[in-house]
Amino acid sequence: MRTQVVIVGAGPSGLLLGQLLSVHGIANVILEQRSPEYVLDRIRAGVIEKWAADLLDDAGAGARMHREGLVHQGIEISFDGRRHRVDFDALVGKSVIVYGQAEITRDLMEARAAVGAETYYEIADVSLQLDQPGRSSVRYGRHGRVQEIQCDFIAGCDGFHGISRKSIPEHVLNCYERVYPFGWLGILVDQPPVSPELIYVNHERGFALCSMRSPTRSRLYLQCRLDDHIEDWPDARFYEELSRRLDPHAVGALHRGASIEKSIAPLRSFVAEPMRYGNLFLAGDAAHIVPPTGAKGLNLAASDVYYLWQALLEYYRERSAAGLEAYSSQALRRVWKAERFSWWMTSILHCFPESSGFDQKMQRAELEYLLSSRAAMTALAENYVGLPY
Ligand SMILES: Cc1cc2nc3c(=O)[nH]c(=O)nc-3n(C[C@H](O)[C@H](O)[C@H](O)COP(=O)(O)OP(=O)(O)OC[C@H]3O[C@@H](n4cnc5c(N)ncnc54)[C@H](O)[C@@H]3O)c2cc1C
Repeated sequence: MRTQVVIVGAGPSGLLLGQLLSVHGIANVILEQRSPEYVLDRIRAGVIEKWAADLLDDAGAGARMHREGLVHQGIEISFDGRRHRVDFDALVGKSVIVYGQAEITRDLMEARAAVGAETYYEIADVSLQLDQPGRSSVRYGRHGRVQEIQCDFIAGCDGFHGISRKSIPEHVLNCYERVYPFGWLGILVDQPPVSPELIYVNHERGFALCSMRSPTRSRLYLQCRLDDHIEDWPDARFYEELSRRLDPHAVGALHRGASIEKSIAPLRSFVAEPMRYGNLFLAGDAAHIVPPTGAKGLNLAASDVYYLWQALLEYYRERSAAGLEAYSSQALRRVWKAERFSWWMTSILHCFPESSGFDQKMQRAELEYLLSSRAAMTALAENYVGLPY
């Protein structure tokens, strides 16, 4: 079997790249180790930059997002028990769309089915053959048999734990990492949001976030310890702790419904450089991870896909490899800026167990400056809505 591009992983990066390639006539096959139901069940990101939304439109998968997504023109930051609005529209004239990752995944899966492109789900033992210049292939197990696809290029879109990054020889990769000493305990609940916009809370008991997926579905988070277990957090305890961290007005608007999902996510910053090895190109979480505080994970996956899609178009249309040569450095420039923003948002909003009195004073000064300075708020808004591609 032969195709032009093999894509490993059917998360947002793989599905978006596959769809952009398919609608522009570039043949591709996606290999995914999980079932479609499992992929759709993962509750993750929910804030979409305009750039990522535009890409979904380019892929012909944006219609439902525009119908059902919530356009947000700002966020609120709660500090010292008072809420302060960061008005994206007034500061930078842009907005974001709140629309769940699971919905984006569903829209991309349907768009892919409509163009008749192949995705093989529940495949096993993927291995990449990268050693021969100009010739690549991917082996995998399907229906109990080992199969192989020859291709021009491989897109490693298989997330942080995938095999693509691990297939690159160790001496070629430079990895940069920060693991944070806390996690996020999140619940999904079929109740209206506390407020029409996201509330990011800095509180002496720890960070909290009131987010949403729709006008009737809330996503609520608490900073928690790394050794916490979800069994230790029945809904009643979750709401009690959240109420302690919110301002009184927000507490009054909190609907305490039964959670329909509950999970703990550790927080990490991670970048692997370069994002290319021969004919293998990494995109999305396979190459980098951000803590979710800046809502950048999915959006960064989309910008990688944009650069890679453009480079592949240039290769097939103009027979020029210039875009492919530039892919890693171009993508990494934006990756590091989003890493910086996510790290900064995390550092100003969370309680760090090891922080000294000086560190705590610095965090206060940072927040007081941010919330009193139009220039500082503009910088936040510019990054939150997403830096241009
Ligand atoms: C628990 C959690 C919560 C998150 N919350 C947020 C949030 O609130 N906001 C935000 O912006 N971002 C969030 N993120 C990050 C965001 O979801 C990711 O950045 C985004 O999913 C990246 O998409 P991706 O396609 O690159 O990787 P993934 O979504 O990880 O997709 C990779 C795919 O590859 C498949 N795969 C893995 N290994 C193999 C293999 N060997 N063979 C074949 N297939 C393989 C996986 O099954 C998966 O389907 C969260 C992430 C996690 C894990």
